[in-house]
Amino acid sequence: MRQTPIRIAITGSCGQIAYNLLFRIAAGDVFERPIILHLQDVPGMESKLEGVAMELSDCDFPLLEEVRLTTDIHEAFDKVDLALLVGAKPRSKGMLRKDLLAENGRIFVEQGKALNDVASRDVKVYVIGNPANTNALVAMNNAPKIPRKNFHALMRLDHNRARSLISRKAGVESRFVKKMLVWGNHSNTQVPDFTQVEIAGRKATDVIPDIEWHRQEFVQTIQNRGAMVIEKLGRSSAASAANAVVDAMRSLYMPTPEDDWFSSAVCSDENPYGIHEGLIFGFPCRSKGDGNYEIVPGLKWDDYIRDKIEKTEKELLEEMEFCKSEGLF
Ligand code: NAD
Repeated sequence: MRQTPIRIAITGSCGQIAYNLLFRIAAGDVFERPIILHLQDVPGMESKLEGVAMELSDCDFPLLEEVRLTTDIHEAFDKVDLALLVGAKPRSKGMLRKDLLAENGRIFVEQGKALNDVASRDVKVYVIGNPANTNALVAMNNAPKIPRKNFHALMRLDHNRARSLISRKAGVESRFVKKMLVWGNHSNTQVPDFTQVEIAGRKATDVIPDIEWHRQEFVQTIQNRGAMVIEKLGRSSAASAANAVVDAMRSLYMPTPEDDWFSSAVCSDENPYGIHEGLIFGFPCRSKGDGNYEIVPGLKWDDYIRDKIEKTEKELLEEMEFCKSEGLF
């Protein structure tokens, strides 16, 4: 018997991340079941959407049952099970972070309301467009009918970058690196937490005993990696961001191995770490593979990690207050 298709909306479908993402989803890299894609971008992008759809058709993917193209956000989210919110206004030269927050915030007010109106009641929402945590916060607060725990912002690119860097430093394949974790905001205050990491069953800080390397080089490289890619490439990371979305979805829809977890920015309501409630905050998560997750409790922070977590929490609180002052929720 043919399985029920999964209906996935992707905003910003004409952009770079989408171009690296759509074909992997359609090929079955995340869901090995029939797939219906709702591809959305802004008015004026109709021809590009058609071009993308032509390429999808030319791939002849067996699982891809249907592709809908739209510039209307309600059509895009109609009955979807999963919404990948990639589209956002890029930060232009000289633009302040708070102007970006306000401009994108308004987009995510509209998207939150549309999800609330027409998406599946149990839709899972993944925000990739920056500033991802606060955009997700705005969407969540404009979608009261959707469970708050269904909203995520992408921390997986940071997680993957951190895993790759530490495995190269240790001289092991990254599959031996477990319990990588990035707390907080997807910004340069994020906290890649080397104190939890295990390399082939040993503490990373025993395998790489140079604590200053962890505190300086490791943390700062990961915090600034996005900016470094932009400097070298002249645009923001797209292939690695799309790959991170695929990994994040696989983590949510496949059971988490016993000896591991994954990083995702999720709603901090009732979190076990005393982080201010009502934020979208990077936490260690585990899933049974059904699209839901739980936050892994009980991890201990040393003074260095605690200080950094307080800083990223403060930044998210300020962003939340700013959104409230702009009337975004
Ligand atoms: P891009 O500029 O190539 O594409 C963005 C697309 O979004 C464009 O096609 C544009 O028309 C569309 N768009 C703009 N406003 C929209 C709206 N209101 N509704 C729907 N679509 C809209 O950018 P990209 O490289 O694909 O990056 C997309 C976003 O992802 C950016 O905000 C970028 O900063 C962010 N990003 C996030 C991460 C992460 O780890 N969270 C990593 C890399 C990039």
